[in-house]
Amino acid sequence: MPLPLDREKTQKLSEELENVIAAHLAWFKQFNRVLVCGGSPADFENSQDAHLQSPFGKWYYSEAPHPLADHIAFQELANVQQALHVAARQALDMVARGQRPSAKLHDQYIDLALKINNKLRHLQLEIIGDLLSTDTLTGCYSRRGMISRLQAEQERAGRIQRPCCIGLMDFDRFKRVNDELGHPAGDAVLRQGMRFVASVLRKYDTVFRYGGEEFLFCLPSTPLKDAEQVIERIRMGLELLPIMLPNKQKLHITASFGLAEVAQGKPVEDAIALADEALLQAKANGRNRVELWQPEPVRP
Ligand code: GH3
Ligand code: MG
Ligand code: MG
Repeated sequence: MPLPLDREKTQKLSEELENVIAAHLAWFKQFNRVLVCGGSPADFENSQDAHLQSPFGKWYYSEAPHPLADHIAFQELANVQQALHVAARQALDMVARGQRPSAKLHDQYIDLALKINNKLRHLQLEIIGDLLSTDTLTGCYSRRGMISRLQAEQERAGRIQRPCCIGLMDFDRFKRVNDELGHPAGDAVLRQGMRFVASVLRKYDTVFRYGGEEFLFCLPSTPLKDAEQVIERIRMGLELLPIMLPNKQKLHITASFGLAEVAQGKPVEDAIALADEALLQAKANGRNRVELWQPEPVRP
């Protein structure tokens, strides 16, 4: 998601995860009760789709797509939960035949059940933690944690052998907006402008507030030429976007953009500096434009 979740959504999802954790632990308690105290395993964990019928399964497979579906920890839950249900069924089958589950099987289902618990907690901490790195005015990611997020994308780009681009955006003549229409008008431009930008960006892109009226985009799995098209779409859309000012007046604004590819084996800060060079070029070439940083061709 280009922007982190807002406070309200974070709170709602955190409560939802709390309830899932409680429901999962209640399921696990019931499973243990049947194993240890006896009862009817058939009523409890008999069918092939028991992993869909459990409280966790009903939550995990209910809504598609879940707001957390892009999180790795969320995706990893599927395999762990299926493995847990396979182990649980084996254990219950053994008990039904009058045998004891092996120590290995016992450890397996306990570890898997705890792993689900840990992953759900991890997800909860991750989304709550995102609030600490959210810029309150624009809802973009703040600079806190930006470099480590960019480094993670650089590492992923190297692993999957796909280029990753960095874009810098700077509103044009923004000082004038503040000077002529007041600071609240400037704030409205930043808020509405960036909401628009985030709506055009793709699911895996991210936007950071880099400085006052400067923003940084991370565009994974995107060659420079494709990144140019994405950013060009943003530039054109922004130009047409009517921004509603606090005095109900409408205002149009433009921005300039610089783009560079993240090189492997070099600090991500280098790519930011190159995107900044391209941005300066865009300003020098008349503003309201996108410039790419490209290495000088090597002369023979
Ligand atoms: P250029 O086209 O060359 O980028 O000119 P500019 O006027 O946009 O650039 P300059 O750097 O001179 O001005 C940036 C202004 O952005 C100055 C600063 O007061 C304003 N600014 C920075 N952060 C905020 C903010 O959060 N809210 C508002 N309203 N203004 C801000
Ligand atoms: Mg600036
Ligand atoms: Mg500016």
